[in-house]
Amino acid sequence: MIDPQTVMANLAEVRAAIARAAEDGERDPRSVALVAVSKTIPPEGIRPAIAAGQRVFGENYVQEAKAKWPALREEAEGIELHLIGPLQSNKAREAVELFDVIHTLDRPSLAAALAREVQRSGRHPILLVQVNTGEEPQKGGVAPGAVDAFLAECRETHGLTVAGLMCIPPAEDPPSAHFGLLAAIARRHALPVLSMGMSADYPAAIQMGATHVRVGSAIFGARRPKG
Ligand SMILES: *Cc1c(COP(=O)(O)O)cnc(C)c1O
Repeated sequence: MIDPQTVMANLAEVRAAIARAAEDGERDPRSVALVAVSKTIPPEGIRPAIAAGQRVFGENYVQEAKAKWPALREEAEGIELHLIGPLQSNKAREAVELFDVIHTLDRPSLAAALAREVQRSGRHPILLVQVNTGEEPQKGGVAPGAVDAFLAECRETHGLTVAGLMCIPPAEDPPSAHFGLLAAIARRHALPVLSMGMSADYPAAIQMGATHVRVGSAIFGARRPKG
C-alpha cells in the first residue's frame, strides 16, 4: 500500500494544481471542491488524507462505504461523504442514511426510491443527475437529450431538488467536449453544481466550470483490482 507521506504529498500537489487551474480560469480556488475518491482504499490509507485536512471523500460502493466510514467519521469532525458510483434502487435507504451528496441519480425508479427515503428519514442529501454525455451503452446516466424531461420528472413527480450534474467522459475521447456539454446543460437549467474531472483531466474540467472534481489515483496511487 501507498505510504502516508506519499498520500500527503500527492494531496498537496493536487490542491496546488486545482488552485493553478482555478486561477487560469479566473475563478476563486475555493469554488472548486476536491472530492478525494477513496474506493478500494482501506482506512489506514485514508487517515493520512484526513490528517492533512481533507474532509470531502467519494466512494463508489454503498457496502464498502458502510464498512469504512461510520468509524472514520468518529475520528474527525466535518467529514462529507459523496456517492459517485451507480446506485441500485434497493440500496436507496442505506445511501440516504450514509451519504451527504449522491452524484448518480439517473432514472425514474431511482428518483422514486430516493424520494421515498428522503420522506421517511428526513435526511436531504444533495442530488446530482448523472449525464451519459458519450451515450455509452455500458455506462449509467441520462442521455443528453433526455435530461430536460428527467429533471422535470424529478421535480414534478417526485418532489426532488436536483442541485447539479455529473459526467464521466468516454476514456477514448478528449474530455473537454463532454465537460462543455455538461456545463451548457447545467447553465440552461441554472444548476449550480458541476461534478466533472478525474485524475487525468481535472485541470481541464476546472477550466470549463467544474465545482467538484473527483480525484482518486492521483492522491491514493493506482488502484488494485478488488479482491
Ligand atoms: C474511480 C472514480 C473516480 C476517480 O478516478 P481517478 O482516475 O482514480 O481519479 C472519479 N469518478 C468516478 C465516478 C469514479 O468511479
